[in-house]
Amino acid sequence: MDRGDVLEKLASRRFDLLVIGGGIVGAGIAEAATAHGLDVALVDKGDFGGATSSASSKLIHGGLRYLSLGDVGLVREAHHERRLLMRVVAPHLVRRLPFLFPLYEDGPYRPWFVQSGIVIYSTLARAKLNGLVELGRARRMVPELRGTGLRSCALYEDAWTNDGRLTLANVRAAAERGATVLNYAEVTTIRAGEGAEVIADGRTVTVRARSVVNAAGPWVDRIRRLEDADAKPSMRLSKGAHVLVDGGQDWSAALTIPHDKVRVSFAVPWEGMLLLGTTDTLHDGEPETVAVTDEDVEQILAEAAVAVDGIGPVRATYCGLRVLPGGGGGTANARRETVFSTGPSGMVSVAGGKLTTYRRIALDALDHLGVKRLSRGPRPLPGATGLERITWPVELDAAARAHLIHLYGSLAPEVLAPAVDDPTLLEPLVAGRPDLKAQALYARTHEWAVSDEDVLRRRTTAWLAGRRLPV
Ligand SMILES: Cc1cc2nc3c(=O)[nH]c(=O)nc-3n(C[C@H](O)[C@H](O)[C@H](O)COP(=O)(O)OP(=O)(O)OC[C@H]3O[C@@H](n4cnc5c(N)ncnc54)[C@H](O)[C@@H]3O)c2cc1C
Repeated sequence: MDRGDVLEKLASRRFDLLVIGGGIVGAGIAEAATAHGLDVALVDKGDFGGATSSASSKLIHGGLRYLSLGDVGLVREAHHERRLLMRVVAPHLVRRLPFLFPLYEDGPYRPWFVQSGIVIYSTLARAKLNGLVELGRARRMVPELRGTGLRSCALYEDAWTNDGRLTLANVRAAAERGATVLNYAEVTTIRAGEGAEVIADGRTVTVRARSVVNAAGPWVDRIRRLEDADAKPSMRLSKGAHVLVDGGQDWSAALTIPHDKVRVSFAVPWEGMLLLGTTDTLHDGEPETVAVTDEDVEQILAEAAVAVDGIGPVRATYCGLRVLPGGGGGTANARRETVFSTGPSGMVSVAGGKLTTYRRIALDALDHLGVKRLSRGPRPLPGATGLERITWPVELDAAARAHLIHLYGSLAPEVLAPAVDDPTLLEPLVAGRPDLKAQALYARTHEWAVSDEDVLRRRTTAWLAGRRLPV
């Protein structure tokens, strides 16, 4: 993976498709396009998955909230995608998770309303779990569930993921089928009908391509203006912040905490920590100015405390930007739909959508590009098959093996292979986290990691050690 060689390739070939942006949408489009036989170039101005696609709530879900907004079609489609991701596409990365929906005396909902909503949701999910759960069982599932004023608890099912690694798995799938991929490669100019200029490692190259897709997430309008200086804004941005605290290890369910008739927040056991959030506030500035504020953290902790007792110390925070269709109204009840547009030189722009439905978005993008569909069927991502037949090259305890299988699936032995000759690679990457030094090496040799942050934050879970992180 010599970056100079990749740049040479980008400069010398004429591609069928140039994808701008290596978040889940761009990576998913590259995966789908290569599966349809296209010669693809994929570039990202930062790290793959380094923007919104590693800053989500990490849920692969139908979206209970969208049901209350009357978006039954979106919920059904998202549940369908959730099932495919869990069963075929990435069973190691997308895991089933029960959710409790606690109903307090002073809460915004009546139990019958929530119960009927969850019955509809679970029917759309084709899940057996639904309805009210006995409070003793709820407390066994979530030991820190606040009991004061708790009237009842509903139960339903969704799934969680590691969003950064799901994105990376799509980049890798595309690369394994021949895509030319480069992170830290910024598109600065669109050349009508020809391709785009890309700056990477101090060099400017022209990437020639028959078609161009703009999957730049919060930057989608900036790229549209590179093609057409007069392009009108197509979307609004809404900030969502999250907080990671100690805890959650003995939770067997997540919490969906209602705050009013539209907004909920989550408390999710995630990678051995408790993930709390999120906020939803209009962001007026440039995407790169988004940051977690003290007020965000206070709001998240206060909202979590509605249903969680004894919240542990904050270890890490992050935030991202939702891309919402333009127009007025509150951000919380804006539709989470995907908007496609085609510019004057034929560039297709994709804005909005969800992590959960990325595969559908990618297929729709192929339609907009006029690519003849070969199949809608799901394809396993690298590492997704052979999970039950893994042969380990070194000895590891069960917890370490489970962690590696979750992150790499059946590629875990490849990650450990260099440790056969160098056992120091089996040492922890940082204190207090299950990641190994072998993962840091693999991140640089096989996963396009350039900086320490790429390794610690998106290839491994080391950053979750937060303030204890030695960087
Ligand atoms: C707070 C929050 C919580 C969410 N929670 C969930 C959830 O739980 N479940 C769910 O399904 N969805 C969730 N979502 C939605 C989901 O995260 C997004 O829909 C998805 O990540 C968007 O991916 P993307 O590829 O469009 O954007 P991004 O991930 O932002 O990718 C765009 C990429 O384009 C690159 N780029 C920009 N300009 C250029 C340029 N000039 N040249 C090259 N590259 C460029 C950027 O560097 C970036 O990596 C959440 C979103 C937010 C904000």
